Amino acid sequence: MDGRPYFISVEEARAITFQTPPPLRVEEVPIESAVNRILARDLASKVNDPPFDNSAMDGFACRHDANATYPRTMDIVGTQAASGANENIEVMDGQAVRIMTGAPMPPGTDAILPVERCTVEGQHVVFTEAPKPHFVRRKGENLEAGAVALTKGMQLTPSRVGLCATMGHATVPVYQRLRVGIVSTGDELKSPGEPLKHGEIYESNSFGLAGLVEWSGHEPVRYPAVADTMGALRATLNEASADCDLILTSGGVSMGEFDYVRRVMEEEGDIHFWRMKIRPGSPPLFGLWNSTPLFGLPGNPVSSHVVFRMLVAPYLRHALGSDGPKEWTVRAKLCDAVKSTNDCVTLRRVTLTSTEEGMMAHQPRHQGSGNLESLASASGLTLLQPGQSGDVGEWIDVLVL
Ligand code: AMP
Ligand code: MG
Repeated sequence: MDGRPYFISVEEARAITFQTPPPLRVEEVPIESAVNRILARDLASKVNDPPFDNSAMDGFACRHDANATYPRTMDIVGTQAASGANENIEVMDGQAVRIMTGAPMPPGTDAILPVERCTVEGQHVVFTEAPKPHFVRRKGENLEAGAVALTKGMQLTPSRVGLCATMGHATVPVYQRLRVGIVSTGDELKSPGEPLKHGEIYESNSFGLAGLVEWSGHEPVRYPAVADTMGALRATLNEASADCDLILTSGGVSMGEFDYVRRVMEEEGDIHFWRMKIRPGSPPLFGLWNSTPLFGLPGNPVSSHVVFRMLVAPYLRHALGSDGPKEWTVRAKLCDAVKSTNDCVTLRRVTLTSTEEGMMAHQPRHQGSGNLESLASASGLTLLQPGQSGDVGEWIDVLVL
């Protein structure tokens, strides 16, 4: 490996990838299509939220009178709808205005009594108790005009997209989705739908990885599976590097004779590290092909997924400085033994169940790194650190899938 980092910890591997970020571009998008995008600049509110004092309840607005006694009969002098029509009703002591939720407080009023605590009798209303100032939502109490409520790097969740609108933004500056090329390699791979000959399997990694790229908020570009030859691989990598910001390959990075991704990267690319202390998924490499960052992910379907979550997803979040998509870890008690190692992080697939004692992690059956069903039916991955015990009864961190 010519002195290049080899078989390093997950932290070391991440640190190396962080030094070679993908190119970033900013675009302005309508908020209708902003969900899950990453904000590229801080966003200040253009207005006060709420923009005016208004009622939190359907009921009656009036002046709060500390000396009044209840029940108290008031004169109804008007109706205030949420649109703010009839806004200029001037309300005197002993008078009340029928008011709808969200409607501006009429001049002279400062308290609300909800409709269910009143009895209406023609042009009068009997208050059974005192009206409450806290049913008034004050101008700017949620957000003052000019306040920065969303900051650069935030992932625009549905509630944050709603907040963009509340703050008066019809469009928002976000990072362009990165184009992520996905190149699977292997002579044995056939597309689903085609007949299989003996020795062939269906190609699944590019579909799973494309899903992970979309989950990360970026744009997958799938290439047809590449045969195990230097020429075919070189041609596809050239095409992908011309067209994409980042390349993910799958397969061909182990020690085998036909592991051409490693070979072509060694001979014609630029490898920044090879192999990482993680199980499953130890073979990955990272480097540059024609100055495009490239992750060489393992071919085993579970491994490629796990390495994406542990290495590629943190790389993408770091590049954009983003806080999403969120990775959740929970503490869980192991209900089945997991074999740990002294040098690797062990990521076994577990099923999580919530009990009164806390979260329980079960590992229902044997797991191979080629068994995609065991990943599809799991809800978490054990984050067993090197040397940490995986005995039954241990409380460990689990990455939620
Ligand atoms: P490799 O790293 O290329 O030796 O691949 C390791 C294992 O993963 C082999 O059993 C391959 O057949 C399998 N594999 C490689 N690429 C894919 C893929 N794209 N989809 C499904 N299985 C794959
Ligand atoms: Mg292969």
